[in-house]
Amino acid sequence: MSARTALITGITGQTGSYLAETLAERGWALHGLVRAGEPLSELPGGAEPIVGDLADADSLRAAIETTRPTAVVNLAAISSVAYSWNHPLETARVNGLSVAALLDAAHNQQQQTGEPVSVVQASSAEIFGAAASAPQNETTPIAPTNPYGASKAYGHHLVGVYRGLGLKASSAILYNHESPRRPETFVTRKITAGVARIAAGLQDELVLGDLSIRRDWGWAPDYAKAIAAVLEGDAPDDYVVATGVSHSIADFVAAAFQAVGVEDWRPYVSIDQSLVRAGDSPEMRGDATRLRERYGWAPSVDFEGIVAAMVAHDRELLES
Ligand code: NAP
Repeated sequence: MSARTALITGITGQTGSYLAETLAERGWALHGLVRAGEPLSELPGGAEPIVGDLADADSLRAAIETTRPTAVVNLAAISSVAYSWNHPLETARVNGLSVAALLDAAHNQQQQTGEPVSVVQASSAEIFGAAASAPQNETTPIAPTNPYGASKAYGHHLVGVYRGLGLKASSAILYNHESPRRPETFVTRKITAGVARIAAGLQDELVLGDLSIRRDWGWAPDYAKAIAAVLEGDAPDDYVVATGVSHSIADFVAAAFQAVGVEDWRPYVSIDQSLVRAGDSPEMRGDATRLRERYGWAPSVDFEGIVAAMVAHDRELLES
């Protein structure tokens, strides 16, 4: 086992790719869990691929036994709330049971070798559901309102259970974080890609759901740095990762249109009630005081900067 070897699940996703780059810069040797059939070369951060599937507990156990990591970061998941409503069983298995398999395997390795193993689990603001107050912090009651949030709540609680057994296990309670690497299945990227196409005359309008819901949007590379700080730190715990500022979807739309020089966005947006989701919290806003005080973490890109960077990227894609 080499010093500082991390197994990252979800390395091909938005946050996993930034985390791999961050840890590689800090000298970590990396293994990335990839599903069978995925291309096995050129993983972010030069990570070595290891085949496994969150839906297959044996493959996760085998991945840990083969790579013998000093740290495991579990970012792989069904990450879409909308998908989780349509596939609640798959979401429970992939997002919930996999956490049990990974924690158990990491704990077994620690018991066998006597060497500590660190685990960071990607928890989510969705565990708080429609919280009665904002901002939420690590003491906010866990009360999810959708299958995705419930699956993440199970994983979150298990991390606490294994921390009690002596594993250096932490939950990073991630609030929404965005970047040009966000897929268009998420509303933020749907907006920035749509606005870029409208500005280029390739699309007429954006069709959206509830414009009033408010989210705490951060910059994904900042959130990768937060996860790295928790992983490398010496205080395993639950950590809210958030900016502390919320904006509405309407604010996001306005900022995206502003980035292409359009002041009045309303003629370009129509509402489809079928896109309004049951159980959506009106506001999610996190308080990252614990993370800031223990590790000095702070976001580096503000809301307008995030939206502008995503729109600029989508315009470049159209031009290239
Ligand atoms: P993402 O871009 O959707 O990436 C998901 C990753 O999970 C991909 O690498 C995907 O691999 C992998 N994956 C999915 N199902 C798998 C399976 N059955 N076996 C193995 N790998 C599987 O998600 P993200 O935005 O990077 O988010 C990272 C984590 O943070 C997730 O756990 C998410 O729930 C959590 N989180 C994210 C946010 C956010 O705003 N982004 C907020 C709160 C929490 P493939 O390439 O093979 O599909």
